[in-house]
Amino acid sequence: MAGLNGGTKTIGASEFAEFAVSLRGDLLTKDVEGYDEARSVWNAMIDKKPAMIVQCFGVADVIASVKFAAKHQIVLAVRGAGHNIAGTAICDDGLLIDLSGWRSIHVDPEGKRARVEPGATLGDLDHETQAFGLATPTGINSTTGIAGLTLGGGFGWLSRKYGLTVDNLHAVDIVTADGALRHCSLTENRDLFWAIRGGGGNFGVITSFEFDLHLVGPTVMAGLVIHPFEKAQEVLQHYRHCVERMSDEMCVWMVARKAPPLPFLPAEWHGKPVIVLAACHIGTKAVAEKELRELREWGQPIADVIGPQPYSTWQTAFDPLLTPGARNYWKSHNLTEMNDAVIALVEEYGGRLPTTDTEIFFARVGGAINRVSPQYTAYPHRDTKFIMNVHTRWSSPKDDDRCMAWAREFFTAIEPHATGGVYVNFIPSDENRVANAYGPNMARLSEIKREYDPQNLFRINQNIKARHVTFHAPSAARP
Ligand SMILES: Cc1cc2nc3c(=O)[nH]c(=O)nc-3n(C[C@H](O)[C@H](O)[C@H](O)COP(=O)(O)OP(=O)(O)OC[C@H]3O[C@@H](n4cnc5c(N)ncnc54)[C@H](O)[C@@H]3O)c2cc1C
Repeated sequence: MAGLNGGTKTIGASEFAEFAVSLRGDLLTKDVEGYDEARSVWNAMIDKKPAMIVQCFGVADVIASVKFAAKHQIVLAVRGAGHNIAGTAICDDGLLIDLSGWRSIHVDPEGKRARVEPGATLGDLDHETQAFGLATPTGINSTTGIAGLTLGGGFGWLSRKYGLTVDNLHAVDIVTADGALRHCSLTENRDLFWAIRGGGGNFGVITSFEFDLHLVGPTVMAGLVIHPFEKAQEVLQHYRHCVERMSDEMCVWMVARKAPPLPFLPAEWHGKPVIVLAACHIGTKAVAEKELRELREWGQPIADVIGPQPYSTWQTAFDPLLTPGARNYWKSHNLTEMNDAVIALVEEYGGRLPTTDTEIFFARVGGAINRVSPQYTAYPHRDTKFIMNVHTRWSSPKDDDRCMAWAREFFTAIEPHATGGVYVNFIPSDENRVANAYGPNMARLSEIKREYDPQNLFRINQNIKARHVTFHAPSAARP
């Protein structure tokens, strides 16, 4: 097996057998049925082959696996739903802790809390919480894993009102590199709790998440307004105008892409470039209709399909465009404004998208996310107003170079207008921007890493290196 510090490590047959029988979950090796399914992840660019996959359904198997990897000094990876663009859920020749089958959720409707197992998807969580008209902010694709999303920060339609996913995290249980199970919250293991709220999987394996919930829907006003791409400049200026004025209940993201064959779009538009304004308003119907009016009653859209719909349905609206199995390459920037130069660049590059499925998206964040200080959680980007992500997406390896070159060129063109920061969950495998992801919080993260994982057992991630540094801990009080 791959050694933690290079080279290979041999596991004796008796040690392997002893480990296998100690587990409740299955241990898959390369010759076993189900192995290929268990190692495949969302991004088809990633093709890695762990030596062993432990399918964990409880804390005991996680502890056993962490101790086994530490004892034998072998490479260790941890998988939630396997959506990470950089493929950090998986490793070559190491031990994979696969949590994807461990996905129950317990909702306490009175206390407005949900306890979530680490393999749950966003769809699982919405399904259980919306039964009580409750929700917590997550992302926009229902098959994404709650674990990886939360550990990076997590943002979606509810974030302007209720903050990031980590801002709603009440507590976690984590198995650290020494094999200990620790409970972390604002009052217990505070340093670890601070670090995992944005610091990724660097500090251990989370075996349980506890989230605060809010009353949401179950019906919200949501949908799309779609404009012809030739009007991109005016549409984006209008978009900018509307999102600067909107309340925290409202959220609008912009997508430049070729029109998919959606049933409500006239056939002549299928495959043509368009600007999509995707909107969600969680206020009452009357308030939502009033506030969405300015966005909708402008120009001559090809389609306007904003209307009342269940929040959980809206949370799956983009699933058909984001299915697993395609080749994907992302480039992302944080911005504090969408200035005219950015609009001109979206117009230029959106006019020559490399494939039918490629998207340029700008998520308008802000609101409650920005009312938290950058040091309050490990996620530091509290001044960001727009998160730009270029989703380059194609199917044949022969298009790899062409598609990636287009994405890199656009990324470089936008760079002078960006903050330099980046959302850690959007970093692709060929970028080293961990320092940009953590900015002022990097020193404290390195110190906590030194304390809990000095050997860097948890390194298949956007890796934070252990370092001895001094830092001034911020107060626990929320700013
Ligand atoms: C189609 C699509 C849409 C997306 N939309 C959004 C969005 O709207 N908002 C948003 O914020 N993000 C979004 N993302 C990004 C998403 O947050 C990341 O891809 C995230 O890493 C996915 O989590 P996962 O559990 O599926 O990933 P995995 O690939 O399984 O894991 C990601 C990382 O987390 C680590 N990890 C996973 N589980 C644990 C655990 N229990 N303990 C410790 N470490 C663990 C893994 O080791 C890995 O390093 C989207 C991604 C995709 C592919």
